[in-house]
Amino acid sequence: MRYDYLIVGSGLFGAVMSYCLSKAGKRCLVIDKRAHIGGNVYTENVNGINVHKYGAHIFHTSDKRVWNFVNSFVEFNRYTNSPVANYHGKIYNLPFNMNTFYAMWGVVSPKEAQAKIEEQRADYIAELHRQGVFEPRNLEEQAISLVGKDIYYTLIKEYTEKQWGRNATDLPAFIIKRLPVRLTYDNNYFNDLYQGIPIGGYTALIEKMLGDTEIRLEADYFADRDYFDSIADRIIFTGEIDRYFDYRFGHLEYRTVTFETKLLEGVANYQGNAVVNYTDGETPYTRIIEHKHFEFGTQPDTVISHEYSKEWHHGDEPYYPINDKRNGELYEKYRALAEQQDRVIFGGRLAEYKYYDMHQVIARALDVADKITANN
Ligand code: FAD
Ligand code: UDP
Repeated sequence: MRYDYLIVGSGLFGAVMSYCLSKAGKRCLVIDKRAHIGGNVYTENVNGINVHKYGAHIFHTSDKRVWNFVNSFVEFNRYTNSPVANYHGKIYNLPFNMNTFYAMWGVVSPKEAQAKIEEQRADYIAELHRQGVFEPRNLEEQAISLVGKDIYYTLIKEYTEKQWGRNATDLPAFIIKRLPVRLTYDNNYFNDLYQGIPIGGYTALIEKMLGDTEIRLEADYFADRDYFDSIADRIIFTGEIDRYFDYRFGHLEYRTVTFETKLLEGVANYQGNAVVNYTDGETPYTRIIEHKHFEFGTQPDTVISHEYSKEWHHGDEPYYPINDKRNGELYEKYRALAEQQDRVIFGGRLAEYKYYDMHQVIARALDVADKITANN
């Protein structure tokens, strides 16, 4: 049996490639080492609730091409992500907005809030300037310069250090720039034009993308590399790039997360929101997800997941790339090697070692597929 393309990985990158290449008349085989399709966006139905098995996934994008693309497979609901933070029993809205500032300081107008933030950060910024620092050098400097000390110490520092297992002064500033700061009463976590959760879960989206392409599950490319290399003309590889090159230059590092998922029978509503972040340092988990709220579920039961962030060890599930100098330089070496492989295309969060959101992975896969199909 010969294929035009072997696609290693049935996550979003692999599924989009499979859809586009099949549509262009290419014969594809998709393999995945897991027992299910979908990679990290996989959802599993438990008592009528779609459980996000690898962490909460909220689709958001401002890219109309990507939004139209995903909506051509499934409908999306009107879910808007509005997580709340619990700091020692007190609740604050996220992202940082007038509701947060009211809970923190009792201020009700944007003018008062702005004045309070100024007061909170003025001395700190002046001190940085005295030291000759005009651009925040790390996450702590960035966060305090943005929202001041109270918010930093209540909602950011301990959560961030729990999440990344590193001091906030050792983390890059850009991580916190993802979060909006607003002087409006708007709890929408994202600024994007489009947002929602696929009705029927992400697995339904991936199933539709894969269509009737041949799929082999529990098939690890590395378990039989020669065979897999021999059955297709070209390969789309979405696994770990360092593994592909037998760790020739050393291991790339990740941050991993683990989930303790429980079905609570007879509990219709556990926490009143899909996502509650625990921003104190003592609570061992970072957040609790209550899955039914992603779909406005009214089932008599509920499913919750406690999410723990852990240092990654070889053999653990890799989740978040570590954006530091060592890993950045190491990845560059692997990327240079990857570019020399004319039969193999490397794509997705593991093969490109990038902190990609779903819409970015899809946009990237659509671009790659366009290039391939334009040349053939
Ligand atoms: P993956 O989903 O990792 O797919 C890769 C696939 O390849 C896997 O199925 C794997 O089993 C398979 N594979 C790997 N090696 C082999 C091999 N050797 N042989 C066979 N198969 C192999 N994005 C958002 O937009 N919104 C969110 O709210 C959001 N939340 C997130 C929460 C968490 C906790 C995490 C970790 C990520 C989140 N993301 C979110 C990002 C999102 O998960 C990714 O952008 C997306 O899933 C990446 O798709 P992918 O295909 O690149 O990788
Ligand atoms: N963050 C924080 N407090 C919160 C939520 C997020 O300090 O309550 C910081 C933290 O450093 C985190 C970053 O903001 O890594 C990005 O958060 P986001 O929720 O976007 O990350 P995710 O874990 O969903 O990828």
